[in-house]
Amino acid sequence: MAVFLHFAPAIGLAATVGKRIISPRLMLAGAACAVLPDVDFLVMKLGGFPYGHIYGHRGFTHSIGFAVLLAVLAWLWAVPWRRQAQQTRKLRWADRAIAASFILLCTLSHPLLDNLINAGICTAWFWPLDDARTCLPWRPISVSGMRMFTLDWLWVEMKWIGLPLLAVAAVARLWRRMARWMKQSDGNGEASESAGIETVKQQKTQKEVLSARTQHQIKAYQAEAVLLRMRLQAIEASGLGTEARRENDTTTWADHPRAQRQRRRLALELFAQSLTRGVQ
Ligand SMILES: [Zn+2]
Repeated sequence: MAVFLHFAPAIGLAATVGKRIISPRLMLAGAACAVLPDVDFLVMKLGGFPYGHIYGHRGFTHSIGFAVLLAVLAWLWAVPWRRQAQQTRKLRWADRAIAASFILLCTLSHPLLDNLINAGICTAWFWPLDDARTCLPWRPISVSGMRMFTLDWLWVEMKWIGLPLLAVAAVARLWRRMARWMKQSDGNGEASESAGIETVKQQKTQKEVLSARTQHQIKAYQAEAVLLRMRLQAIEASGLGTEARRENDTTTWADHPRAQRQRRRLALELFAQSLTRGVQ
């Protein structure tokens, strides 16, 4: 049985596919599920079950059925971790499927690692359908004569589990970087061209909006001018034009020919009055 690195496949898998797909939160949940099957020690002690019982060690918690159960719980309780999904609180089917399959793989990694080591009891893989215990035909990791929780044991686990996972994760990361870099260098030309087209489109729309606004404004001004002209004609026709014009727009009214005629007539009347007074 693996002792130290049951959590490693969860982290290795998450690092391999990247955090766009497996969030850090989901990775931690996966790591916990990868360690969880060994809780059977507690069940065995508390329940007083014998070591080889289905509720003993490597019993129901190390089965495919238990992994499926955890995957179903992950499907039901999956929470949105993508930023966009967090904002809308909408969980896509793909998010649930990723969470469920990741938890399934992490939980299954536990009995798999246990079985790769040539020590310990076999596993009840097919619980609840069958309580019988089966060992994998290939158990390459030899820990014969080693004591658990020792540095020798840790080194064996590092050699068979830790280092291969690290290598796979590193290659995957490098691959993703290269793919991104190639995509960027390929897309640069197209991107700048399409960006140019986008800018021209935006400018066109802005112009259209502006011209529509201007035309609307011009029409409003024209209507206002017509109204003003009508008001002016009405005032002049009513005979109150002089006073109103003087109040509103004296400078222009003062230059008006009719105003000049009025002023001349007034001056003549005054002159005539002064003459008649002088005579009297
Ligand atoms: Zn175990």
